[in-house]
Amino acid sequence: MKINRTYLFIVLSSIALLIVLIIQVNWVFNIAKIKEDIFNDKAKMVLAKTLEALGNDKVTCGNFEKGGSKNDKQKVDSLLQTNMKLYNIHIDYTFEINPAPSNENIFTNYLNLPQNSFQGCVDVPSSKSKLNFKLIFPEKEEFILAEMRMPFFISIVLILVVIIISWRTIFSVLKEKKIAEQTNDFLNNMTHEFKTPITNIALATKMITKELRIEKNEKQKKYTDIIQSENDKLKFQVEQILGMTELERGEIPLHQSKVNFDELIESVVHCMHLQFENCNAKINLELNAQNNSLLADAVHLNNAICNLLDNAIKYSTSNPIIVIKTFNERHDIVFTITDNGIGIDKSFHEKIFDKYFRVPTGNLHEVKGFGIGLAYTKFIIEKHGGAISLKSEKEKGTTFIISLPNA
Ligand code: ADP
Repeated sequence: MKINRTYLFIVLSSIALLIVLIIQVNWVFNIAKIKEDIFNDKAKMVLAKTLEALGNDKVTCGNFEKGGSKNDKQKVDSLLQTNMKLYNIHIDYTFEINPAPSNENIFTNYLNLPQNSFQGCVDVPSSKSKLNFKLIFPEKEEFILAEMRMPFFISIVLILVVIIISWRTIFSVLKEKKIAEQTNDFLNNMTHEFKTPITNIALATKMITKELRIEKNEKQKKYTDIIQSENDKLKFQVEQILGMTELERGEIPLHQSKVNFDELIESVVHCMHLQFENCNAKINLELNAQNNSLLADAVHLNNAICNLLDNAIKYSTSNPIIVIKTFNERHDIVFTITDNGIGIDKSFHEKIFDKYFRVPTGNLHEVKGFGIGLAYTKFIIEKHGGAISLKSEKEKGTTFIISLPNA
């Protein structure tokens, strides 16, 4: 099954977003836990300090054995207040001091303590008994929540920002994909509509030539030849656009068979000899590949080579000199086409194989084209398991290098 890249991107980015959200929520909970731990540590320190001071005060301890007076409670309260200030705790608290029953299980007692209470024991110096000291913070939960307000708020804002940006990105990607598909469909339908007029023009030109015996009239023959050759060019472009779309969509498979590459090149050069003659092009063939057999779709490979030779002529300034070389490299046949044309600036080398890309020349395009030839050529070469690259500099000509695996 062919995986759609856009949907794969959306799924992957949604998963990444979900992971980020989980991490963010986890982070908020961790901060809450850390804040609570810090508070608990401080409260335990306050309790320990207070117990230490109380343990040294024999009289007050003794009094609490009998219940403790208001004065005793105030004394402990002021001790607590001092320690609270020391450890920076500024919330309400209460405390209880009771004689500890001798058979009390201290651990069960600690485990059963509510989250907002802290308990400790102090030995009464005058007797062998102990006092239970319980420090309670009734508003502990509210305090932690209040401390959490800022990070929680920032997290919510960040999460919302990330969700909105991701949603907008996904929405734009889907919208652009839809527009690209619609444009492609429109282009294909429009191009398809050109097929019938092109066939009719070709037929009509043939009929004119035949019926009116145009061969005898030089001028008329010249004009019908122009119509014929321009119509052929249009036909080639239309077939290329439609052929590429069909290949890309997997609607037509490549029909591969054993091909002799030297013969293929010679036949392409022969087919184009009129074009070469028209522009006084010089073709040098240096076919040195010992093993030139390939498994290929001869029609598509033929079109791909035609494109490269056509460009070598189209993008030349003076009389084109085109050198075609072949040689073997490991298990590949390497094929280069060098021209002495206008060259391609390095900054365009990556884009040159993109569909519809043409090297910008302002709004002035002396050479007409759709920017589809190289995209088609690359597509066909890669479909054959090969690779295409180029060496070129502005005004210093261009070399296209193609490697294809030997059969
Ligand atoms: P088209 O020729 O129809 O514009 P192509 O896909 O064949 O489309 O080529 C894309 C662009 O690459 C061309 O517009 C041209 O600017 C540049 N180009 C291709 N071949 C050559 C070449 N041999 N020399 C210089 N420029 C070239």
